[in-house]
Amino acid sequence: MNSHDSERIAGSLDSAGYIPAPTGTEPDLIVFNTCAVRENADNKLYGHLSFLVPKKRDNPDLQIAIGGCLAQKDQGAIIKRAPYVDVVFGTHNMGSLPYLLERARIEKSSQVEIKESLEHFPSALPARRHSPFSAWVSVSVGCNNTCTFCIVPALRGREKDRNATEILGEVRALVAEGVTEITLLGQNVNAYGVDFGDREAFAKLLRACGEIEGLDRVRFMSPHPRDFTDEVITAMAETPNVMPHLHMPLQSGSDRILQQMRRSYRVDRYRKIIEKVRKAIPDSSITTDLIVGFPGETESDFQSTLDVANEFNFLAVYSFKYSKRPGTPAAEMPDQIPEEVVSERYDRLHQHLNSISLRVNQQVVGKELEVLISDMEDGRAQGKSRDFRLVHFAVDQDQARPGDIAHVKITSAKPHFVLGETERVVRSRGGDAFSARKAEAEKSGVFLGVPQLKSVLAK
Ligand code: SF4
Repeated sequence: MNSHDSERIAGSLDSAGYIPAPTGTEPDLIVFNTCAVRENADNKLYGHLSFLVPKKRDNPDLQIAIGGCLAQKDQGAIIKRAPYVDVVFGTHNMGSLPYLLERARIEKSSQVEIKESLEHFPSALPARRHSPFSAWVSVSVGCNNTCTFCIVPALRGREKDRNATEILGEVRALVAEGVTEITLLGQNVNAYGVDFGDREAFAKLLRACGEIEGLDRVRFMSPHPRDFTDEVITAMAETPNVMPHLHMPLQSGSDRILQQMRRSYRVDRYRKIIEKVRKAIPDSSITTDLIVGFPGETESDFQSTLDVANEFNFLAVYSFKYSKRPGTPAAEMPDQIPEEVVSERYDRLHQHLNSISLRVNQQVVGKELEVLISDMEDGRAQGKSRDFRLVHFAVDQDQARPGDIAHVKITSAKPHFVLGETERVVRSRGGDAFSARKAEAEKSGVFLGVPQLKSVLAK
């Protein structure tokens, strides 16, 4: 969600006439799009900002803007801590950034503008896409759930669904530009429709994406087990371009902890969903999110998480140490787990998950996977299979481009990826879109993206 917001921020700057600073030059504007889900994101922002103090001294015209969830949360406190910041904007007014920058320049003072809620889904905001062949498409923003560890509803507000005509219009426009893969995005995608009273709206959306010619891969994230309907599973199974992969956050393998987290489902409900998915789509993979060290988590609760992870054969797990977010109910709970216990459990979980992922990856050794190439360098390529495995392989640099499809015979497995040999490459519209973007970048000397920001910070 945050990555896609960055694309929208870049898009609104583009339309206001800003151009990305050519590689190797100093920018006049640096924008941070922040996250507040975990505590260390806060720390990182202030660390990065302190690097910019000498740059601002050398170039008083340099503007610094902070947006995103942390800005929404800290508001004016950011300026107090870092008075050289020019603009602070929130999650509900990304499109105002060019105007706020202008006002900061004219008035020669810092501008803080945070809106408490979103009136309409910001469909009209342009986006500068990071990838020419793979794109995020928002279906909703905000969340109506009240998970006790989560700060998102406080910062992103209640769920606002986007009109299906606008979603499909954006997908069609992207496909016309060369995009072959989309990921439908929302905090809780299968609650999509709650705003207009249609419980099957998300399943209908998947089926509608299936009818768009030239769209090869459809993914979505993240669904919530409570709102998962059988119709979504049927739509996944019956729509050939919907990929056989489900990322569905579990968070804990202990019913007691799920209740404390106010997750409103129990492990058995999760189990039944993935059993149905695996029955309807036999070659599907399941990935999840797990939190370790939630307040009150006992060794026995933690053991349940280990057992369930083993039983569910997750291809990959995004595991997190519980991070206390002031303002959430969990932050006030007694029995906060000491950091050393959380770290010890996290390490144990990590080892355990590695052996599970390795086992799941070994199941495809000897098989041929269809891989969308995402990156290539010096004859080495990587990309994701239809079921979301990360695949590394050698490829003839003249034969393939990012965005093309490689058919790869898997030769060995590791916990986080598989290795294989290229059988053949199918050049696709996605590869054509990459070639066009590359030519444009070579001509202008401009490359927009996170790596550019990194090089700025490294100087
Ligand atoms: S479903 Fe729960 S964890 Fe996810 S955004 Fe909503 S409140 Fe947060």
